[in-house]
Amino acid sequence: MALVQIDNVSKIYQTGEMQVKALQDVTLSIDEASFVTFVGPSGSGKTTMLNLIGCLDKPTKGKVFVDKKQVDAFDRGQRAAFRGSVLGFIFQAFNLFPVLTTYENVEYPLVMIKNESASERNEMVSKVLESVGMLNQKDKFPDQLSGGQKQRVAVARALVTQPKLVLADEPTANLDKKSAVNVIRLMRSMRDEFRTTFIFSTHDPGVMEEAEVVHTLEDGRLVRKK
Ligand code: ADP
Ligand code: MG
Repeated sequence: MALVQIDNVSKIYQTGEMQVKALQDVTLSIDEASFVTFVGPSGSGKTTMLNLIGCLDKPTKGKVFVDKKQVDAFDRGQRAAFRGSVLGFIFQAFNLFPVLTTYENVEYPLVMIKNESASERNEMVSKVLESVGMLNQKDKFPDQLSGGQKQRVAVARALVTQPKLVLADEPTANLDKKSAVNVIRLMRSMRDEFRTTFIFSTHDPGVMEEAEVVHTLEDGRLVRKK
């Protein structure tokens, strides 16, 4: 079975009298260690799709399998545990703690989730900061870093727990063109190094070119696959 399997998934948001079909009968699969993007105009369902894969939301219809588990059937606690052990997240607005250094921001998920000793944590944090080229910035605070550097730190933070799958919703939307492409290339090299599957969304043509698989959404429907 593929790492991610989406079977006939629909998501309908009901707000008062209004029904929004955010996803309509989508079926697709995503292989382990692949480098995949969801593209499409604003409102096409990209965030909804990533939220379903990321166990942040449930489909109205259909099934979502991640790492062989039917995650749409999980309860709240199971979803949280699964996110902590299998998934990593990268956000559009970086979402680093401003009062923590680069090092502390990357260490944070380990402190929260895993039971490693301080020396084991040090080894893991240093290794991943080295990989993203930010070890020499480890004592800086986020406001001392450029946007591209902040997103490198966020990539390191997503990877430090060694997740199977990293999800990134518009991770380059707050970056200039050059930094955007650099961050995506960094993610791809992390996939090469750690075999981590990456799924990201974007509407930037320069960024989508860097993906190996492109799923295009339009009005909640999957329209094309490269
Ligand atoms: P994208 O990320 O491609 O911009 P979204 O997945 O955020 O698209 O949204 C798809 C559609 O679902 C849009 O029409 C959006 O307005 C609607 N939508 C998303 N989230 C909600 C929600 N929580 N409640 C109601 N409608 C929503
Ligand atoms: Mg979105």
